[in-house]
Amino acid sequence: MTTFIDLALRAELLRALTDLGYEEPTPIQTEAIPPLLEGRDLLGQAATGTGKTAAFALPVLQRLPGEGRSGDPVGLVLVPTRELAVQVSQAFHRYGRELGVRVLPIYGGQPIGRQLQALDRGVDIVVATPGRALDHMSRDTLRLGGVATVVLDEADEMLDMGFAEDIEAILEQTPEGRQTVLFSATMPPRMAAIAKRHLRDPVRIEMGRAPVAPGEAPPVRQSAYVVARAHKPAALGRVLDVEAPTAAIVFCRTREEVDQLTETLNGRGYRAEALHGGMSQEQRDRVMGRLRASTADLLIATDVAARGLDVEQLTHVVNYDVPSAPEAYVHRVGRVGRAGREGVAITLAEPREHRMLKAIERVTGQRIAVEKIPTVADLRARRLELTRAALHESLLADDDLERFRVVVETLTDEFDILDVALAAVKLAHDATGGDVEDEEEIPHVPARSREDRSPRAQGGGRPSQGGGGGMTRLFLGLGRSAGVRPQDLVGAIAGESGLRGRDIGAIEIADRFSLVEVPERAAEEVIAALRGTTIKGRKATVRRERYTRPR
Ligand code: AMP
Repeated sequence: MTTFIDLALRAELLRALTDLGYEEPTPIQTEAIPPLLEGRDLLGQAATGTGKTAAFALPVLQRLPGEGRSGDPVGLVLVPTRELAVQVSQAFHRYGRELGVRVLPIYGGQPIGRQLQALDRGVDIVVATPGRALDHMSRDTLRLGGVATVVLDEADEMLDMGFAEDIEAILEQTPEGRQTVLFSATMPPRMAAIAKRHLRDPVRIEMGRAPVAPGEAPPVRQSAYVVARAHKPAALGRVLDVEAPTAAIVFCRTREEVDQLTETLNGRGYRAEALHGGMSQEQRDRVMGRLRASTADLLIATDVAARGLDVEQLTHVVNYDVPSAPEAYVHRVGRVGRAGREGVAITLAEPREHRMLKAIERVTGQRIAVEKIPTVADLRARRLELTRAALHESLLADDDLERFRVVVETLTDEFDILDVALAAVKLAHDATGGDVEDEEEIPHVPARSREDRSPRAQGGGRPSQGGGGGMTRLFLGLGRSAGVRPQDLVGAIAGESGLRGRDIGAIEIADRFSLVEVPERAAEEVIAALRGTTIKGRKATVRRERYTRPR
């Protein structure tokens, strides 16, 4: 197993990774970091969830000069969305904290004044959406003459959003001898062409290529839940409540996550134990002992800590995060379903990580069913079922019930016997924590895939095909005469709101106005966001379209 030390990273970075609770490099980090440190160009096919951000950020930080940094950036990362610009910047900050790295995210929508001030003070790394980067370049506030590394992150996504020309224009302004890194979840032919033009003899990395030999993947029930990060702890609790595992292992990415989740689950009444690489052998043995003796029912662990671990009674493997590579999934899930025992594998995936699920399915040749998170009603039904089962058992066991006869008899003088039974069931139900009053509904997020995308008009003028269920059309008071192109609208919406390019439906551009389809659930957010920004330097009226034309 390769460690971060084997990768010869500088001490400041190693300390940061330890503090973050990273125990070992992910497969893509193991493959990408050495050639990147050598200065090679790299073409990587990797989806979100593989650890690709650290794979390109660590080598850039490794080569950051200790002193005498000029004010101009040495690293430029281009990303499709505001959301990703912020995330990638935060990652650079976390890894490069001890190096005093100056990172600036720049994206449309944020007041340009703040970006100007920061650029003026000097930055080392700029993480930008292409449109806003060009904007700064034309003002000469972003100078790329000192850039040593350019990263195109989620490049397919940027192409989808119409940023191809912008990317070309930006790359042209960077030094010839720069290092270029391109990460993309998919490699359509257009991407290959861009790579051919701008990458020199790149190292190629592709995640999850080798399919698992038949029979190697265990016969287990596999399901996944797509859930936003903020709802993950609640979603896990809910799924566990319904699955009621005898013994389960929950895999997390980092030590921090292991500790936090253990605390959360204990708070929910589970008997959860943490297991990670930071614990002594003695501590680990104690934890394993408790699991074997069934005084604990959940083990919350990192991959490293769980290596080589074999628990007979394990019924469920839960991936709290999608594993960083399909091979890791196969490895984890292999802990259940052995020797004819029944097993269940459950994966929680964030909406951005749905591609990893597909990659895993490709490698294992088995389907992972994406299911809806149990609703409050499901949970209520399940808990009632448990109470019913407990009463049934008590009746069958003839549990010394005779001594309660007097209670029932005196009450039936006054009440109907059925009402007495109902009150008794309620007491029993409540006593076993049956109530779900405090539970909130967890929003179901549909897994997004390319195929789901609604058609988008390219040149404008093409009538909308309709975006299918749940889409709403917005009116924008700017059109062709203001120089608005579809990619400007996609860029502005994705840059200003939480939506990604592929969430946006048909776009129609008329001379004086445009119509854009967005998911109904996000309509208000998009309206508010667009009202606060400019498109092509102009403020636009934004509202819901008032009438629907016959289709
Ligand atoms: P990414 O694919 O870059 O979006 O990363 C996915 C997640 O994995 C992020 O939350 C990272 O913080 C986390 N991560 C990246 N590398 C590691 C690692 N070596 N060990 C544990 N977590 C990691």
